Amino acid sequence: MDYYVTLSPGLENISKNEIEFFGGKIKEIRENKGRIFFSGDLELIPKINYLSRTIERMNILLHKEEIPNISLEDIYERVYSIDWTEWINENQSFAIRPLRAGEHNFTSIDIGRVAGEAVIKSYQKDKNVRLKVNLDEPDVIVRVEVIFDELIVGIDTTGDVALDKRGYRVFNHPAHINATIASSLIYLSDWKDDELFLDPMCGSGTIPIEGALIKRNVPPGKFREKKCGFKFVDIFGYELLNKIKEDIVENKNKYNIIGLDRNQKYLDGAEENAKNAEVLDTIKFIHGDATKLHEVFDSVDVIVVNPPYGIRMGSKRAVKKLYNEFLSSAKKIMHGSSRLIAITAEDKMFKEAIIKNNLEIKDEFNVMFGGLMTKVFYLTL
Ligand code: SAM
Repeated sequence: MDYYVTLSPGLENISKNEIEFFGGKIKEIRENKGRIFFSGDLELIPKINYLSRTIERMNILLHKEEIPNISLEDIYERVYSIDWTEWINENQSFAIRPLRAGEHNFTSIDIGRVAGEAVIKSYQKDKNVRLKVNLDEPDVIVRVEVIFDELIVGIDTTGDVALDKRGYRVFNHPAHINATIASSLIYLSDWKDDELFLDPMCGSGTIPIEGALIKRNVPPGKFREKKCGFKFVDIFGYELLNKIKEDIVENKNKYNIIGLDRNQKYLDGAEENAKNAEVLDTIKFIHGDATKLHEVFDSVDVIVVNPPYGIRMGSKRAVKKLYNEFLSSAKKIMHGSSRLIAITAEDKMFKEAIIKNNLEIKDEFNVMFGGLMTKVFYLTL
């Protein structure tokens, strides 16, 4: 069976490792486009939906084709020619979730309308049954994406709530980081069990919580409401969860994970989230200042941080000062093998601060975070 997943563009190489770990065979990676195509058996569907930490959505791939000057007629024809009786029972409802990127003389609403009609007519031809459309709570979600000249048609196995929406979040920080990006950055940091891990501007705690879940081998699917498109995904997903041995009983205090923020309200929210994720006993949340880390810590092994960008933080000057003082302080507690991973939309300002503090950039790359272009920096001394 062929599949494709979507994720935050820029982090494909990290998600690729996860797919391979679950047994998928990579066919194509769309770098910076947030899409990976691969093949594998059916059990990949519950595995990715319940165990993956970096992927947002998993779809069964039904059709993929480059069609120069693609038209609505092309879309109708391709969708009509798929055997929908294999995917939708006659008593099930469906919805098209369309997506369009690039210049076309039609809208995504047009795609939804035309593709919906094609599914209904195709099904009627094969089974003489008119399928029901339910846009709010469909039994089966069909993804029809027109990306420039390419048409991609798939069955969404994840459901409308993407996998980055972790069920443990009860407190919403106004600028919280996407949990799948947080996990990807933690994987990137190559954090070892005995190393001290610090998020010095942790807000609602997403990064330390994802870190604790990774170390304790708690699958994100544990916090999922049963909302997959297919019932079997949830049934097998729950079976998988039951089989997984979480590293919780003996080892909860083995890891050294610290979340720090200067805003007590956010720290309280982070504690709530961590409690809900059942990892509060694994993380220390500390009220403090990221520009004065050296006054609190002697040494740190791994820092993963999502500092403010200034968009919600007021003046650019304040952000510039924060970046400078934070990196200057972080440098004082870093040692030869410490790594600092940061993600920010104010990448120019952050880079100026890196240069000013004479830190080494091992890697830097763009990541699309929501609609915002951000940059990830991997720094060492
Ligand atoms: N990753 C977080 C999450 O998922 O909720 C969001 C982090 S938010 C973009 C940036 C955080 O930096 C805010 O919570 C803010 O209170 C904190 N912050 C700003 N200046 C700080 C400083 N000097 N020391 C510590 N925290 C600071």
